[in-house]
This record gives sequence, structure tokens and C-alpha cells, in this order.
Amino acid sequence: MPITKAGVPFATRETSFQAADSVENTVAAIRRKIYRHIVAAGRYGVTCDELEVAFERIHETISARVWDLHGGNRELPTLIVDSGMRRPTRRGRSAIVWVAKGTETNMLATASRHSSESPEHYTPGDIVERARFALGGIDLDPASCAEAQSWIKAGAYYSSENGEDGWMKPWVGRVFLNPPGGMSDDQQRPVRPKCRETGSCGLPPGHTHSDVEASQKKWWFKLAFEYAAGRTTAAVFVCFSVELLQNTQVDTPPGLSIPLDHMICFPSRRIAYVRPGGGVGAQPPHASCVVGLGNEAFRARFREAFASLGRVVA
Ligand SMILES: [Zn+2]
Repeated sequence: MPITKAGVPFATRETSFQAADSVENTVAAIRRKIYRHIVAAGRYGVTCDELEVAFERIHETISARVWDLHGGNRELPTLIVDSGMRRPTRRGRSAIVWVAKGTETNMLATASRHSSESPEHYTPGDIVERARFALGGIDLDPASCAEAQSWIKAGAYYSSENGEDGWMKPWVGRVFLNPPGGMSDDQQRPVRPKCRETGSCGLPPGHTHSDVEASQKKWWFKLAFEYAAGRTTAAVFVCFSVELLQNTQVDTPPGLSIPLDHMICFPSRRIAYVRPGGGVGAQPPHASCVVGLGNEAFRARFREAFASLGRVVA
């Protein structure tokens, strides 16, 4: 299904279809109907194939409108998200189950999605340079490694390679942060599926983890804490999965801001992250965004730097 690939030229086919159709079935009207259908499906969600059946329309028409709703059309806000669940199509293929943004997602689905990912995903140089422009320079990268620093070139960085736990340290100045992915426990140790039995997380079999949660959520609130304390003066936070916009609304520590309180750039295409060793990873199975924290001057520069990547909302 081509909807996860950016740049598919739907427009040509859509135009001829549209010309032959009635006013009631304009692109915008079909999009509204599809969105209402997805909202009505709630947490169960809908696949493109199920929409094709429900609306008796061809695949291209449905997938183009789903792409719009998922942030592929820069003129529109992102209204639906990948739930992490998959259901078979009529032909037996595995299809993305879409849910309306803000719909609570199935935590099991979330955990299994992250389990397939390496926590190491470096920010592509293009995004780093936009961040550097917005910040006017990068004083600290608190979750990094020597390899990523070859292009991030922060004034200082913390890395577990050097035995440092960046999460525990103060973050001073202009911060660039691409937090670790996956799940982690209350000591920021990675947690992998069934690692209690297999030791795949690096701890001996039989160990336990407590307060297991998405790493990026914990690192977000650490940044919000440093920013509220005034040590971090401005920051660019690379949000690996827009799920953060949902789950930071739950159990928010008192006095701390959430990403939705700040400027956010929603890239018009999915970001392909850099894998250890320099290869570019496959596009992730979910959308990313970039969050900017700072004063008015920073906000103007952030908008200037990121507007050509995707819609910037404040
Ligand atoms: Zn473990």
C-alpha cells in the first residue's frame, strides 16, 4: 500500500475522477466522510481496505484522502494516526489500522511496535542544521554518542558510551535533544520484550524492571524540567513518534509543559533516521515531529528554519 511512501502522484488520477463525479463527492467531501468514519470507529480504527468496502471506492481514491488526513497535505492538520495495530486486507495483506488523533491507542500495540526498533536512531544532518539555525548554536546534546557528534558538533554532549547518564545531569544553555527510543524503566535502562527471561536487554535473566514507559516521554519531561528551572534557555526536541503528543497529556508532572504547549513542526513526509554505522534507516512506521522551546526571537527563527520541512504550528 503506497500511503506510507511520500511523493506518490495521486493528483493526476484524482483530477480525472473528480471531473466525472458530482459536487457531493468532491475531494474535500470524501475526505470529511472518511474522517468521520474513522472517528466513529474509535479505538478499533479502520484500514484503507475497510474504507474501500464501506465507501465502495477504488483504492487510489481512499488512500489519497487517508494520506491527506495523515499529514501528507500541508494545507491540512494531521487528523489521524497509525494506531500500531494491523489487520488483514481482503487479499490477506497486513494493513495499517488508522485511528483519529487523540484516540487512546492500545498499549500492547504500542509496546510491540517499539520492540522492533533499535533505540539508536540518529537525527539526519538536515534537521540538525535547521535546529542549529533556530537555536543560534548547540551548547548541549544530552543523549548522544561520538558517531552522531561528527555532524551535530554540540559544545558538550553526554553519552552512555562514556558511562554518563545524561538524564541525571543538569542541562545548561541551548539544548538539542533526540531522546532514546523504545521503552525504559525507572533507571532509564532499556526494556525489551521478554527480556526478564532472555536477558536481551543486557541484564541477567530473572531481573525485573519497574515503571516501564516510553523513553521519549521521560526525556521530554526532563527537558521540560530543565527549561522550567531556567537552566535550558532554548531547545529543539526531535520527537520520534507523535504518540508523545498524546501520552504526555496523561500523568503530566505538575508545573511542567507538554509538547503541545510549544511550537511544533509536523514534517510533510516521514523522517528517515540515520542508523549506527551511517546507513539511512527505513522510514519509521509512524510519524515524527520536531518541538521547539524558547523565547519570541527563537520562535521566529524556528518557524523560518522548519517551515520548508512541514507545517509549523504554535
Ligand atoms: Zn530487561
